[in-house]
Amino acid sequence: MGNNCNTTVITGVLKGDKPHIIVDPGHISNEAGEECLASLEEGMAADHIKIDDVGLIINTHSHPDHCQSNELIVNRSGASVTLSKEEDDFRNTIGNRMYTMFGMKPPHFTPLFFLKEGGVDLGKDGFKVQVILTPGHSPGSICLYLPDTKILITGDVIFYMSVGRTDFPGGDTLTLKKSIEKLAGLDVEYLVPGHNTEPNGIIRGKDMIKRNFAAVQMFF
Ligand SMILES: [Zn+2]
Repeated sequence: MGNNCNTTVITGVLKGDKPHIIVDPGHISNEAGEECLASLEEGMAADHIKIDDVGLIINTHSHPDHCQSNELIVNRSGASVTLSKEEDDFRNTIGNRMYTMFGMKPPHFTPLFFLKEGGVDLGKDGFKVQVILTPGHSPGSICLYLPDTKILITGDVIFYMSVGRTDFPGGDTLTLKKSIEKLAGLDVEYLVPGHNTEPNGIIRGKDMIKRNFAAVQMFF
């Protein structure tokens, strides 16, 4: 009913005894009073995935509806956290205002390392993620591209037939336009946006994704 981001869990890819990656764990509880983290945990449990086995949290950006749960998950599982340096600088300065605006306490966490543009080998068996810096919605927004499965996780850069807002602190429409141009050329089978704007929250198939890029590029 209320607002929360889409969370992606990439299972069994990290070395060690905490093999799961969680991308954007979202709100603890939202403006409608819904227990978002508890609901995520329930959904994961249905797939036999435990929060305690999460070894890494990746934040596409630092807005409250994407990373409010970071601190609690770190406390529970000892997970490391990563995001871009640009976004970490933002959240430690004006980004903090977003939390005050929504009457929330910012989560306390220290990133273990920063994600930079390019390929990063995060796990065992050559699990590779391509990090794409895509500022505009937030100054250090990133997208994640998984080349083996052709999955693109976009955070709030792109939605189903829509784009992320640029009127929050640090947002910029022209920058968002350039970021989307950067993504449009990728070979994508599954586009996972930062919020549910269609049933199931995933845009499937090259043709549909191409149409989606064409539609959102008309916004600019
Ligand atoms: Zn956002």
